[in-house]
Amino acid sequence: MYKTNFNNPPVGRNAIAYLAEAIKNNHISGDGSFTRLCSEWLENFTKTNKCLLTTSCTHALEMSALLCKIKPGDEVIMPSYTFVSTANAFTLRGAKIVFVDIRPDTMNIDEKLIEAAVTSQTKAIVPVHYAGISCEMDTINEIAKRNKLFVIEDAAQGIMGSYKDKPLGTIGDFGCFSFHETKNFSMGEGGALLINDINFINEAEIIREKGTDRSRFFRGQLDKYTWQDHGSSYLPSELNAAYLWAQLEMAEEITADRLKSFNRYYQGLKALQDTGLVSLPVIPKECKHNGHMFYIKLKDINARTRLIDYLKQNKILSVFHYVPLHSSPAGQKFGRFYGEDKYTTKESERLLRLPLYYGLTDEEIDLIVSLIIKFLENKD
Ligand SMILES: *Cc1c(COP(=O)(O)O)cnc(C)c1O
Repeated sequence: MYKTNFNNPPVGRNAIAYLAEAIKNNHISGDGSFTRLCSEWLENFTKTNKCLLTTSCTHALEMSALLCKIKPGDEVIMPSYTFVSTANAFTLRGAKIVFVDIRPDTMNIDEKLIEAAVTSQTKAIVPVHYAGISCEMDTINEIAKRNKLFVIEDAAQGIMGSYKDKPLGTIGDFGCFSFHETKNFSMGEGGALLINDINFINEAEIIREKGTDRSRFFRGQLDKYTWQDHGSSYLPSELNAAYLWAQLEMAEEITADRLKSFNRYYQGLKALQDTGLVSLPVIPKECKHNGHMFYIKLKDINARTRLIDYLKQNKILSVFHYVPLHSSPAGQKFGRFYGEDKYTTKESERLLRLPLYYGLTDEEIDLIVSLIIKFLENKD
């Protein structure tokens, strides 16, 4: 139905060959050779102490909540403009979510509002690097240090992005990547947990392996494995890891292609921003992004709805997302908004995501750009 989809999942050049190899290896459960290749690549690329491949970013966030020993009554600070998993991981442990407003330029949590939201119950801050563009991490880490809080980066969209040359996911205590099919690299469903403090590695391995010390057993460090603590099954199949590896080995190429598309949209739509018809993404000078997303912000929700329809008539799928969590039924049950919602609702209603995926062509981008220009300049 659509000529240009919003997203096409990335496929690495060697995907089929590696899937066949995983099957031939006679090892399709977790933690085989492809999982090792992926996690070592991630450790080398991010220079973090440990990276554990997981079944989703949602699960990496859940593991973080377990590692931080979040318990009923604790409070966790995060933006309301995020995916449900950012909050769910902590409400599952009984925490109360304290939502803080976002900055209108990056759509990230406003670091200047965080400290006032801290109470004696606060245990953690969860910055979300929206669109692969970093939050103001120096400020967030200082607040965390002063108040003895954990920092868990929801870097679901942030792989290969950086802040002051530090890879996203490695700046807080824990970092969580997503390899869902809508993200820059995909394993269908999957993710990774980055652990920066070596003291948490053993515990994280136990949580991921159903509460057992099987990871150490597999490394020959034990002669049997047993139930040690709480845990679940957070390790992905080798089939998923093989599919991911085919993209990680061409990670630079995939990222460069996405950045090229981002920049082409930006150049094409810049004139509209100059005349005040749209707002375009802002990349603070401390940040390198990864071309995860290209969005525009329109005047209001009505303008957005009409543009979505217009693009749809031209067989192009554009989407918006994140109904702010604090206005959702679960958000009201499990959370509260600290301070004023000055930007979260207003900015989220203006935002429209345009197609962006590995392999999107210049011609498609040029067509989308020209349709948007036509739509906005022929206002009725
Ligand atoms: C995609 C996404 C998630 C969830 O990732 P899964 O791998 O699907 O669990 C969490 N947070 C943010 C900000 C996301 O964009």
